[in-house]
Amino acid sequence: MKNFIISTSITVFETPNELSDKDQHLVESAKQACERAYAPYSGFNVGAAVRLSNGEIIQGNNQENAAYPSGLCAERVALFYANSKFPDVAVEAIAVIASNENGVLKDPVAPCGACRQVMLETELRMKQAFYTLLIGASEIHRIENTKDLLPLTFTGEGVRKKK
Ligand SMILES: [Zn+2]
Repeated sequence: MKNFIISTSITVFETPNELSDKDQHLVESAKQACERAYAPYSGFNVGAAVRLSNGEIIQGNNQENAAYPSGLCAERVALFYANSKFPDVAVEAIAVIASNENGVLKDPVAPCGACRQVMLETELRMKQAFYTLLIGASEIHRIENTKDLLPLTFTGEGVRKKK
């Protein structure tokens, strides 16, 4: 029998001022997107902002629907839009923030499993890892790549038929 441990390194920032100017801008962009979320059912607004290697910033927010499963998370709205508009441009970073009726959540919010899977495939597709900034009112967490958020990843290897 073997045993192994998977660890994740998280850099914690106590204020946005500790971030680079580019990352502060990305955080601000995620906040703006959060304010425009369509979340009438949960009251849980999420905003995401993706910075691409060409400097473009793409915003996304959660889009809910009366038929609940038809809605989509902020991270995937942003990444799918980025990938649709700039299919060959790598992602440099994504910032995520959430708020409810009490304002921005105190603790940083983490992407759901489905979003992590899409983040991972974006990295694999572009052959470039990107970092994630999880924004809370109390602190900001930086995770260097999606494999740290989604260990034991499903990469799709073996899925395609051989030609
Ligand atoms: Zn999600």
